[in-house]
Amino acid sequence: MNLVLMGLPGAGKGTQAEKIVAKYGIPHISTGDMFRAAMNEGTELGMQAKSFMDKGELVPDEVTIGIVRERLSKADCDNGFLLDGFPRTVPQAEALENILAELGRKMDYVINIQVDQEILMERLTGRRICKSCGATYHLVFNPPAETGTCDRCGGELYQRPDDNKETVQNRLEVNVKQTQPLLDFYKEKGYLKNINGQQHIDQVFSDIDSLLRDLK
Ligand SMILES: [Zn+2]
Repeated sequence: MNLVLMGLPGAGKGTQAEKIVAKYGIPHISTGDMFRAAMNEGTELGMQAKSFMDKGELVPDEVTIGIVRERLSKADCDNGFLLDGFPRTVPQAEALENILAELGRKMDYVINIQVDQEILMERLTGRRICKSCGATYHLVFNPPAETGTCDRCGGELYQRPDDNKETVQNRLEVNVKQTQPLLDFYKEKGYLKNINGQQHIDQVFSDIDSLLRDLK
């Protein structure tokens, strides 16, 4: 079960990743975790990645790809893996094809959780946080009883700058631009499976699950 999970911010990737991992027992490999592990283990590639990150620079592809290769070679990936956050570009996707070929494996599915941008905007800009106790609310999904006031402590609710409309819009547009070539690449390869992410969380998982059941 060799999988890549894709979806724009707010599409519910994290939730679905947890469910896939819980049911199928394959490791969830996110780019961040993978980098942290390589750095903690002090591997040569991990140290190289660290030196770029310490300087605030982007980790070059060859280092990232090397770390992915090391990670996918580990025993816990023998029955498969769920990659999340990698690949980000077509060259990285091509490198991943090569890594899998070296390991004598192939990609099964690239699962893309699709949600309209308007709905993502609603999900991502609705978050409010209490200034006093840090409790989080959502204007649509988990609203406070009284607008602008924390149910728990009566504190004032605010919106993080990262969650404001312009920032979120921009983040989504950058992501769409970045991922479209990747989606095209995987569509052409025949790996791409689009999943409707606008349904209830359980229904989204049920759709993913019926895909994966065939792989067993
Ligand atoms: Zn509060």
